[in-house]
Amino acid sequence: MTKQPVTRHTIFQYSLMSALLDGIYDGELSVNELLGKGNFGIGTFDALDGEMVILDGECFRLDHTGRASRPDLDECTPFAVATNFVPRLRRSAPANTTREALAEVIDEMLPSSNYMYALKITGRFSSVRTRTVVKQERPYRPMAEVTEDDTEHTFENIDGVVMGFRTPIYEKGIGVPGCHAHFLDEKRELGGHVLDFTIAEGTIELCVGTDLELRLPLTGEFAGADLDPDDLDEQIQKTEVKE
Ligand SMILES: [Zn+2]
Repeated sequence: MTKQPVTRHTIFQYSLMSALLDGIYDGELSVNELLGKGNFGIGTFDALDGEMVILDGECFRLDHTGRASRPDLDECTPFAVATNFVPRLRRSAPANTTREALAEVIDEMLPSSNYMYALKITGRFSSVRTRTVVKQERPYRPMAEVTEDDTEHTFENIDGVVMGFRTPIYEKGIGVPGCHAHFLDEKRELGGHVLDFTIAEGTIELCVGTDLELRLPLTGEFAGADLDPDDLDEQIQKTEVKE
């Protein structure tokens, strides 16, 4: 049964997934300003200098070693999604569930797949496999080439949060269709872009997004980017899903 949300909720996004794929790795939105758009979010930093997590109003950088640190607030991002997370839907995760199986549980929780969702899975993970992008130097290469250099990490028996956004397929090119999530451990020391995980026990929380505030960069590079490549699906698969 599909239901409609009863409350409007805005999700903020800076730039486009298709711009990132085209190698637009520098933006003009500071972490400081981004934090004003939400206490929860994911993204990356200029020059792809790590994966970004915003949790409880604090911003973290997850570098290519898998370690978390605090960025300067005047650092900029070329791509980020943020919102003020309100857990409107909540349930416990079935014990010892893989990412694939949990995706079905989450789908059942959604009132409709036609809205956007911020997603937070808090608990103990028997394993989390992540990747992190490596800081780039100009001239920038397209993302499909860059992510071949990613480093992967597997964290085992770790408490933390898998968090991100579930984006409808019709937003392809704007965002990453399906779930795009990052991991940060409970001690705020480790994490990365999530490729796979198994949750031992935990809680799933969802915040339904009905409004999208999209901010496009005012840079010459963005203005000149190719945002409609023929192989968009393939590029997203290669850079974000890595299967
Ligand atoms: Zn990511």
